[in-house]
Amino acid sequence: LVRAEGVHKYFGDLHVLQGIDLEVGAGEVLCLLGPSGSGKSTFLRCINHLETIHSGRIWLGDEIIGYQQQGTRLVERPEREIVRQRRAMGMVFQRFNLFPHRTALENVIEGPVRVKGMSARSARERGTELLERVGLGGKLDAYPRQLSGGQQQRVAIARALAMEPTLMLFDEPTSALDPELVGEVLTVMKDLADSGLTMIVVTHEIGFAREVADRVAFMDGGQIVEIGTPAEVIDSPRHERTRAFLSRVL
Ligand code: ATP
Ligand code: MG
Repeated sequence: LVRAEGVHKYFGDLHVLQGIDLEVGAGEVLCLLGPSGSGKSTFLRCINHLETIHSGRIWLGDEIIGYQQQGTRLVERPEREIVRQRRAMGMVFQRFNLFPHRTALENVIEGPVRVKGMSARSARERGTELLERVGLGGKLDAYPRQLSGGQQQRVAIARALAMEPTLMLFDEPTSALDPELVGEVLTVMKDLADSGLTMIVVTHEIGFAREVADRVAFMDGGQIVEIGTPAEVIDSPRHERTRAFLSRVL
């Protein structure tokens, strides 16, 4: 479903992504681990073209994300094309970016109504179902400030799902949460994984990666150092850098 080939990215002189090759199949859950500054967030942002790349390609299905072939050259797609491609991807960040003056349900239905042109009534029905699915059926009319961090993050997940993405990108969705709230968000994510959604999850939750991921990739210095099943990468890493990282976080 998603394929990165030789992706390089610079911020000025800083070579943040140094040739990323990665393939994630439909229904697969990939957890991306790695130290701070290794380029994990940048890579996710390149996948939905929030960042441009300097060389290489990222495919979603049979389309190159953000660029199109023009003769022998790749040129950036027009903005509306980028917007269309981005709609196929849901993204959940570390900080729950909900609209503060809208209720949980209003946050969830905003996209379907405004972007997809869904009727308010169908959007409310679907939004209610999604909020029930993430365990917030009783909080439809609550404003973000009336919700805990874990609840807000679950609203953010429901909001992303409301757009019916084919791919979900998570960037450390639990790392801003109080420890006692992490579990409820991971439970929702596990549920999504079990339902067959394709997911790329940047996380420091090794337990989650071991239990839920089909494959785990370890990234360091802008490269994927090691990739394999959780048993391979987490329990018997082949690379010294992976071992050193795991010994710090486990
Ligand atoms: P963390 O675990 O701390 O979130 P990360 O693996 O997500 O780290 P990135 O956020 O992708 O790392 O950053 C990779 C490198 O790129 C870092 O050195 C960072 O300082 C740099 N960087 C990220 N965004 C920018 C930017 N917009 N401009 C310049 N440098 C940037
Ligand atoms: Mg990051």
